Amino acid sequence: MTRTVSGGIERLRSEVTGPVHGPADDGYDDARRVWNGAVDRRPAVVVQCASTADVAAAVRYARSEGLEVAVRGGAHSIPGLSSVDGGLVIDLRLLNAVGVDPVARRARVQGGALMGDVDAATQAHGLAVPMGLISHTGVGGLTLGGGMGWLTRQGGLTVDNILSAEVVIADGRVLRAAPEENADLYWAIRGGGGNFGVVTEFEFRLLDVGPIVQFGLFFWEQARGGEALRLMRDIAAELPRSMSAVPAAALTAPAAPFVPVEHHGIPGYGLMLVGFGDPAEHQQVAERIRLRLPPLFDVVTPMPFTAVQQVEDEANPWGVCCYGKGGYFAELTDEVIDVLVDHAPRKTSPMSVLLFYRLDEAYSEIGEDDTAFGGGRSPRWNGFFIGLAPTPDTLPDERSWIRSVEQALRPHMIGSGTYVNALESQDLAQVEASYGAKYGRLASVKAAYDPGNVFHRNANIPGAVA
Ligand code: FAD
Repeated sequence: MTRTVSGGIERLRSEVTGPVHGPADDGYDDARRVWNGAVDRRPAVVVQCASTADVAAAVRYARSEGLEVAVRGGAHSIPGLSSVDGGLVIDLRLLNAVGVDPVARRARVQGGALMGDVDAATQAHGLAVPMGLISHTGVGGLTLGGGMGWLTRQGGLTVDNILSAEVVIADGRVLRAAPEENADLYWAIRGGGGNFGVVTEFEFRLLDVGPIVQFGLFFWEQARGGEALRLMRDIAAELPRSMSAVPAAALTAPAAPFVPVEHHGIPGYGLMLVGFGDPAEHQQVAERIRLRLPPLFDVVTPMPFTAVQQVEDEANPWGVCCYGKGGYFAELTDEVIDVLVDHAPRKTSPMSVLLFYRLDEAYSEIGEDDTAFGGGRSPRWNGFFIGLAPTPDTLPDERSWIRSVEQALRPHMIGSGTYVNALESQDLAQVEASYGAKYGRLASVKAAYDPGNVFHRNANIPGAVA
């Protein structure tokens, strides 16, 4: 049932400059939609903020009306935390401007920008912010939880590149978070998620990557899973810092132009390889892979970095139904590989996949307590287990499969924590486990900036008495 606001939403309309959508308005259904097609929530009102002042007004309005608050960045949250039944959605999609200072190598990015907005603006100067793999993901959610992708080995997590931020906190005040200003807030937003307020602007440090990078995809058939995964692990261990590899288990060969037609739709294993250094170095690694275990097919080619950032976009379209889990591994041991080979053939949707991101080099050069990011900084793999199905009624099979994969892998993971951006529930024990020793400090910062837990539709840290 859709809730309507007792006093109507006209007062909110008069207090903000951006569009406001109630259930009776045209545009409501579009405004309330999120990326995960299995999530169908009906907020009382969606306010598309056009300025920081709009965000502050929306926070104050929600509190005065007693409305539950959800904050929407790119709307990619797998459990759909950026919407809320009967509450108020602070929708940041119009706050998507990106300003680049190529000399100082800094970018100012509004809190509702998508990764693709940042890539387009920074790549005009051959620069980039280390972020994730899918360009229609929101910078807001991705960054606040950590942010990992092709540039993590060279530039660390996205949070490691935040220089400062503008944050609207629970009482509607606008604060700057920086090393010299509200340093506790600056620490907490670098991994602590959306718990502390609405980030309306990030200031990022930029990395020099050039416009063209080297891309490779290698694919092996299902029967060679064990050999293929061991090779991927060994190759990853030998890579220079300028290269990055993402092994994929339970991958279905896409019907893409670079895949020979006879292999379209076959199940198997893949390795994506991106090189930011010398093209010859990339070719040498590709040759080594082909020699050690000839793939069924491969593609190795130079590509604009912006295109590499979009390679996975089509496989993860808006409206697909998703269930996900994850976990950290010190190594892709033979035991881990055995579990993967055992479970991979059991997926029922061709869209689902098990991805492994290598986290080391620059990632591990950041001090353990320098940021609030929950995953430890020792070299590791982050497993992302993504169940995707075309319709809500086909999702339960993928959910069961993802759960069984996670259960079988859990004994081989580092502790019981998960990357908070891959958490499928808001269960307090899971959030605590994911932040480990940092949880207490985060709870104190939460109590200082959001004592009433206004911002709780996230990997929630309810707060402690400061
Ligand atoms: P939203 O749903 O808009 O927001 C997610 C959370 O962040 C919500 O709690 C929301 O309230 C909060 N939030 C968003 N913006 C703000 C803001 N400006 N201020 C305060 N709070 C805010 N992660 C990676 O690191 N690397 C990857 O390569 C990667 N790939 C993914 C692939 C898929 C298919 C999916 C589904 C997820 C992937 N993720 C990846 C996880 C991704 O980082 C999270 O889903 C992230 O939360 C999405 O951010 P968003 O802004 O799009 O989502």
